[in-house]
Amino acid sequence: DSADFDSETKSICPFCGVGCQISLKVKDGKVKYVEGLNGPANEGRLCVKGRFGFDYIHHEHRLTKPLIRREDAPAKGLNVDPSNWQEYFREAEWDEALDLAAGKLKALKDTHGGKSVAGFGSAKCTNEEAYLFQKFIRQGFGHNNVDHCTRLCHASSVAALIENVGSGAVTATFNEIENADVAIAIGCNPIENHPVAATYFKQFTKRGGKLIVMDPRGVGLRRFATHMLQFRPGADVSMLNAIMHVIVEEGLYDQQYIDAYTENWEAEKAHLADFSPEAMEGICGIPAETLREVARTFASAKSAMIFWGMGISQHIHGTDNSRCLISLALMTGQVGRPGTGLHPLRGQNNVQGASDAGLVPMFLPDYQTVTDDGVRRAFTEVWQSEDFSAEKGLTVTEIMDDVHAGNTRGMYILGENPAMSDPDVEHARDALAKLEHLVVQDIFITETANYADVILPASAFAEKSGTVTNTNRQVQMGRPALPPPGDAREDWAITTALAKRIGLNWNYASPADVFAEMKQNMRSLNNITWERLERENAVTYPCHGPDEPGKAVVFGDGFPRPEGRARFTPASVIAPDDVPDAEYPMILTTGRQLEHWHTGSMTRRSSVLDAVEPEANCSMHPSTLRQLGVEPGGMVQLTTKRGTIQIMARADRAIAPDMVFLPFAYVEAAANILTNSAVDPYGKIPEFKFSAVKVEAG
Ligand code: SF4
Repeated sequence: DSADFDSETKSICPFCGVGCQISLKVKDGKVKYVEGLNGPANEGRLCVKGRFGFDYIHHEHRLTKPLIRREDAPAKGLNVDPSNWQEYFREAEWDEALDLAAGKLKALKDTHGGKSVAGFGSAKCTNEEAYLFQKFIRQGFGHNNVDHCTRLCHASSVAALIENVGSGAVTATFNEIENADVAIAIGCNPIENHPVAATYFKQFTKRGGKLIVMDPRGVGLRRFATHMLQFRPGADVSMLNAIMHVIVEEGLYDQQYIDAYTENWEAEKAHLADFSPEAMEGICGIPAETLREVARTFASAKSAMIFWGMGISQHIHGTDNSRCLISLALMTGQVGRPGTGLHPLRGQNNVQGASDAGLVPMFLPDYQTVTDDGVRRAFTEVWQSEDFSAEKGLTVTEIMDDVHAGNTRGMYILGENPAMSDPDVEHARDALAKLEHLVVQDIFITETANYADVILPASAFAEKSGTVTNTNRQVQMGRPALPPPGDAREDWAITTALAKRIGLNWNYASPADVFAEMKQNMRSLNNITWERLERENAVTYPCHGPDEPGKAVVFGDGFPRPEGRARFTPASVIAPDDVPDAEYPMILTTGRQLEHWHTGSMTRRSSVLDAVEPEANCSMHPSTLRQLGVEPGGMVQLTTKRGTIQIMARADRAIAPDMVFLPFAYVEAAANILTNSAVDPYGKIPEFKFSAVKVEAG
């Protein structure tokens, strides 16, 4: 009852890219209850994270004062915890911390050049904060070595989408599945990772929609599927090319659409000739007749959609995987109409918006390339600053390599946790320890903040204003329900204070000022104003009028590419980088689970979520556990060429006998100690989904 609370504030769930609108209900200075609102993506629904995962904002570990590393602190390492932090850091006032943080970064630039300082921003922050962060590095240090977790998430999907349809965003909202009669969900697990989106999938099947689920794991969505293709890990391109081969062989493609809206069809068609289902069934593990049936089902749909997740993107052939999905949609004409489209389900709450805002090394806001002189000029005119490098910057994993090479010497990290999230994470931890100056801005002493020289206490989502953009291209307004605790500040204000101290002419009074500046060079924000978002809460881009809600489906009349045509880019089979052998005979794959979010910094401090899923765990087939002589719930030891962890093992019949599934939220058994840092050549995304592993009773 409203009378039970002191205030109610409309905001956006901070976890996944679904972007559920919520009401934060506050009593006695604390959020006591969260309710789902009627947002365009969630229509009142919430999952367990959105409903119960909020009390981390009041956790006793929250940072309330700036911290400065003590001169007599022990050597940098993963050695700080809530009981001993005073051995490593001392509290400081803001002026001292900001002077030190900015002064040392500036000194590195003056001594070693701008490229000695790099930055990681965050998809957990707002669009305005992402925009300011990339501007801080580009304007302040003159180069593009700035990135964020999209590199670990959907960078390969975006590379393929930009290459072939001319835009990195989804072509249709996930809610459009209401208008589809067939849908493919491949390499995604929405019941755990995008649970509210999954409710729309379930409704779709309830009214007779045909759902084709494809995944090496038997993900929960299989219970609703008409077809479940549990293919061999890494065999995505073989399987998808075989399906497209059938569509060509049986003449099921849409020649009219192909002629009107695409290019390079003949090359694609010729390429697919080598991929008959009969030739591919032994590689992908799916019977030829099933591949044929799925091809016919998809190609004969009136309206069909394709959804994918990190099972597709996190491979060294991640871009090729997405190229196949794009080709499949194009050859059947399943783009641009209601109930059709391509939809990579975005992970973090604002990974779409942070990428749109230019928090990537190759693009300025709105995916305008840094190599284009005119583009850079347009930005430096607005910024009233000098030109910066025309060279594409380094990505997340390349920056860590650059630290080891002795070039990057200082970093500013906002809200990211590479000491947990990078592949082959000991490599990243060693790089963080090697930095001469590390400024971390966060709400907790994260694993990454363990290595910091200065820690700046930031704000949680419930304490700040700002816009975020969800997987559906819906720009939504987040509002503060509470002030930040103690001396903590809003992130845009901290970045602005640092910028002034390195000599930049920044004069923002609020996030609304930043949004107004973003609009000057971001056509995607046409007809979307701060005032409108305050009033309407959400507007979808592209939006063609001040009173229109924005377009749920795009590209009905051509693509933002030369001559308006999308492109077929044939994909060849590339084997995974780290294949099993006699010493490491099984396959390790990593991912998320319902209760925990990414590196666990928020959800493991949420009392309900931590109570439901308190312990590091992995899953494997019961027969695998039996062979090891381990009971379900017993301990196993996982070893790859990178390292070893001990972890509790659960039995799960949905996992193939030669596979292990490992969530990556647990620092005490960090999955990324094991993962491989080999990357996709286009999206530069690591192959988190495939490592050769040895499993022993542990
Ligand atoms: Fe939050 Fe995603 Fe759950 Fe919605 S589906 S409540 S955005 S975690």
